[in-house]
Amino acid sequence: MSLPQIGAEGQQRLYAARVAVVGIGALGSVSAELMARAGVGYLRLIDRDYVSLNNLHRTALFSEADAADNAPKAVAASKALQAVNSGIQLEAAVTHLSGANALELLQDMDLVLDGSDNYELRYLLNEACDQMGIPWVYAGAVGNFGMVMPIIPGQTACFRCLAPTPPPPGSYPTCASSGILGSVSSSVASIQATEAIKLLLGRTDNRLPGLLSIDAWNCSFDVIEVQRDATCPVCGQHQYEQLGHDSGATSSALCGRDEYQVLPAAPADLDLSAWAQRLRSQGDVLVSPYILTFSDTKVRFKLFADGRMMLKGAQSADQALAIYSEYLGL
Ligand SMILES: [Zn+2]
Repeated sequence: MSLPQIGAEGQQRLYAARVAVVGIGALGSVSAELMARAGVGYLRLIDRDYVSLNNLHRTALFSEADAADNAPKAVAASKALQAVNSGIQLEAAVTHLSGANALELLQDMDLVLDGSDNYELRYLLNEACDQMGIPWVYAGAVGNFGMVMPIIPGQTACFRCLAPTPPPPGSYPTCASSGILGSVSSSVASIQATEAIKLLLGRTDNRLPGLLSIDAWNCSFDVIEVQRDATCPVCGQHQYEQLGHDSGATSSALCGRDEYQVLPAAPADLDLSAWAQRLRSQGDVLVSPYILTFSDTKVRFKLFADGRMMLKGAQSADQALAIYSEYLGL
């Protein structure tokens, strides 16, 4: 409140604001923490994943105990942030944001922060936010590089203007191929959070006027102007390819690890205790309110209440789908 740019009135605006953070990893956990500490009154933390030991170098929100418990990142982060600020509301959504649920999960938000790690999810966020007129702040970090761009529907270029087509898989660095420096993702998330605060305060005149591109190792910061493309299918023509799609059961490799995620054709609401009883005859089972962990001589998987599975031991996405139906038959 002492900052002239914010003041008591600005602080009240932050408290009245509702922000979704999509992906609570290296970026999202830091920007969510900055939002909670800044007093943003309502935070919805959306993440499909659980805490692993190798996440701990790039976030202060998770502990070794969270990793040992296989705690979902959204749940562990909201518990940690509620302990930091008991005066705000935190909601954990342990789910995979998809074309089928994006509008429902984001519709009542004032702002969305991108903490994701892939193009597919950003195209989806871009479409959902364009359709609902919600500003969002794109952020990405890999290796010692980072990028940030605020995207305001009707005012700025959108993510599709910036990246008209997704690059072919394997042609760009990922956290799997290049790693990520924890100090870089924290820096990028801090800039993203600063842009978020400006947008929530209505200070669009002060916003970052394009794409900020950072090379932290060479200490170079560039702001690149991004023009709106009148022919852009999203912000120009409001045609959406990702929204509302029900693509059937799908399987994809997870960035940075030898693991596949299988999504059921439609979200489920599984009774994990009942599934634990059923699977106990086939292998070792551990169950928590959020995740069932199974292992036998062939595979190891984690099953979430929404029907998703993350599994190790598959050689391909197709084999991951086959294992899913072998064990669950859903
Ligand atoms: Zn566009």
